Amino acid sequence: MPGRKRYNRIVVWMRRAMRVRDNIALYAAIQDANEVVPVLCLNTEKRYEFDTPRRRYVRSAIASLDSELRSRGSQLFVLSGDIVDELPRFAKEVGAEVVFGVDVYDPVSLNRDQQLRRGLFRAGVELLLLKDRVIFEKQEILNQSRQPFKVFTPYKKAWLEFSDSIPPLLPDIRSVSSPADADGRFSLSRQKSFANADRDTEAVGLRQLKQFVKRKVLSYKEQRDFPALEATSKLSAALSLGVISIRQVYWAAIEQKRNADKRGRENIDTFISELIWREFYYQILANYPHAAERSFRDEFNKLDWSENKKYFTAWCEGRTGYPIVDAGMRQLVQEGWMHNRVRMIVASFLTKDLHISWQWGEKFFLEHLCDADIASNNGGWQWAAGTGTDASPWFRIFNPVSQGKRFDPNGDYVRKYVPELKNVPPEFIHSPWMMDAKSARGIGFGKEYPAPIIDHAVERDVAIEMYKKAASRK
Ligand SMILES: Cc1cc2nc3c(=O)[nH]c(=O)nc-3n(C[C@H](O)[C@H](O)[C@H](O)COP(=O)(O)OP(=O)(O)OC[C@H]3O[C@@H](n4cnc5c(N)ncnc54)[C@H](O)[C@@H]3O)c2cc1C
Repeated sequence: MPGRKRYNRIVVWMRRAMRVRDNIALYAAIQDANEVVPVLCLNTEKRYEFDTPRRRYVRSAIASLDSELRSRGSQLFVLSGDIVDELPRFAKEVGAEVVFGVDVYDPVSLNRDQQLRRGLFRAGVELLLLKDRVIFEKQEILNQSRQPFKVFTPYKKAWLEFSDSIPPLLPDIRSVSSPADADGRFSLSRQKSFANADRDTEAVGLRQLKQFVKRKVLSYKEQRDFPALEATSKLSAALSLGVISIRQVYWAAIEQKRNADKRGRENIDTFISELIWREFYYQILANYPHAAERSFRDEFNKLDWSENKKYFTAWCEGRTGYPIVDAGMRQLVQEGWMHNRVRMIVASFLTKDLHISWQWGEKFFLEHLCDADIASNNGGWQWAAGTGTDASPWFRIFNPVSQGKRFDPNGDYVRKYVPELKNVPPEFIHSPWMMDAKSARGIGFGKEYPAPIIDHAVERDVAIEMYKKAASRK
């Protein structure tokens, strides 16, 4: 019978799906219930008023979600405290029979979801988590022996073979019917730290996607490795919080590919390949959860890492004396984002030049990145440290000077984030210590900007020995 719904009320837990468009859980709930109650729980241990780029982005994503829902006749219902206690209480209070949400794959969240499921069960409420954050999850793409892949290239090939089955985007939601929030008890406006937050994050994310696929994606492959060019999509933060969906990004790229010439199509294929890296790391974490805590490859759990706090602080603060490393780390702290090429360089530097564990770097990135994502971050760090899924990558040691010269040839990226070096000529910008006294005069090298804290050539050999020893203990 048309119009007949299975449920009276469904609570939709909006974590990591902070949008109204192409939102699988929200859309399914609207189809299945007379009323839906979109909810988020603010963890009171996290100080939302802190003004880091990441906190600002999270606040604006939440405020934007509330606005989008209000413009459709609903609102975001905001709880405060521990979700495991608060959500069952709330679901019971509003008389919901079921909570819809989206699946996540890291062990910490999975453990919390188990506790939540038990709490909801005790309250007589079911928890239904749907696939939304990835196109293909966990066991959907398997090798011929029906095992999950451990290597990217064959995974990508299999992923692309399945791409015909990717569903289209969901129809837009025009209205959301929700119960009244008497006295505004659950209103976001009660939370002072959200008063000045931007409220258009979803619209901005979609605009950014549209602009990127219109132009930049057509030269993505050729320009994506040059950090001074702003040639990548910068959609990672929106994807990380679910402000836009991975399907929206995929379909926008495919749509543009239909109109593109051969060169454009090749560039778009490289972009899609990056989306598949994201999927790859999600399925790695889901199928091999030990990687969240330890090296993916067991032999590298025995690496003899240094705990030199002085070096670690220099790396965090962008004061290692290697300009491209320092520029990257300063970009991270100032903007909450770092270019992918530079992420690889700074991660290689921490692990292979300073011999500090990838886990220290992983944690620092998670604290500062607006796009902080456990799967991609862990995958990226283990790739750079050579402890992850590749075959023999520990030989891969980036030379920060030659990487700088190759990918930031004029030093524009370095000069932007390391203003102390703004007058250094291009031939010395990645190795200012090579300048003769005359060229260095007035630049402040060695005073305002540090001399290199280590010698790359020496530390490279130390790293090779360290890894060789660990690999031979296999
Ligand atoms: C040490 C290290 C840590 C990283 N930590 C994170 C993280 O916490 N969160 C995160 O989203 N990405 C992470 N990455 C991957 C990558 O650097 C970022 O996704 C990318 O720089 C984001 O910029 P963009 O949106 O302009 O990417 P684009 O180049 O425009 O790519 C489009 C999208 O594809 C995905 N993507 C691109 N490259 C990768 C990749 N190598 N691995 C996985 N997904 C990718 C992202 O979702 C990205 O938004 C990390 C990489 C390294 C080397």
